[in-house]
Amino acid sequence: MQILHPFAGSITQYAEEISDPDRYRPGHCPQCEAKQPLTGHGFYCRTLVDLAFDGVIRVRRYLCRICKRTVSLLPEFALPWLRFGISVIALFLVARLLKVATLAAAALAAGQSAMPYQRGQFWIRRFQKQAPVLSLALAALAAPPAAADFVSRALRMLESMGWITAHRFLFSRLHAHLLGWPACLAPVGRRITLPAACHSS
Ligand SMILES: [Zn+2]
Repeated sequence: MQILHPFAGSITQYAEEISDPDRYRPGHCPQCEAKQPLTGHGFYCRTLVDLAFDGVIRVRRYLCRICKRTVSLLPEFALPWLRFGISVIALFLVARLLKVATLAAAALAAGQSAMPYQRGQFWIRRFQKQAPVLSLALAALAAPPAAADFVSRALRMLESMGWITAHRFLFSRLHAHLLGWPACLAPVGRRITLPAACHSS
């Protein structure tokens, strides 16, 4: 399973910090709840495109000796299964969907001037589909703004609370993804449960 590594510095600082397996070693297993520290189990590599980075990052992995399962510590500026970091996608979606920029101008705002337009359209489609779930879920953290539709409501809430803060809440508490899980990766058997007060909003 993946858990999030709360990390606010640069990607270079992240790379240095995770070299030490003790630094963020989980004190218990999040899968079987065994109360003993997990064992360092190397890294896996993944690609990441962020505002000032385009390359491969290492993701620290730990092993639980009791249930024999691994836990990886995904840095919270990255999204599971997507190569592009949260900051890039956020700048693109806000420019395109809130400020109504053209696809090309939105890509430029996200620092991706050479990006194929299909990629941006893919993000937009995923976000539009996920917007009702996001609007309801994030109402637990922030008062929903008056907005014409779910898409602008979700975007305004994400902008006000911060995308990474929202991602941390959605992922850790609800196993929800900012852009929705592809069907093959949807966490099996997990349903998003929302506080009762949210249903009327
Ligand atoms: Zn375990």
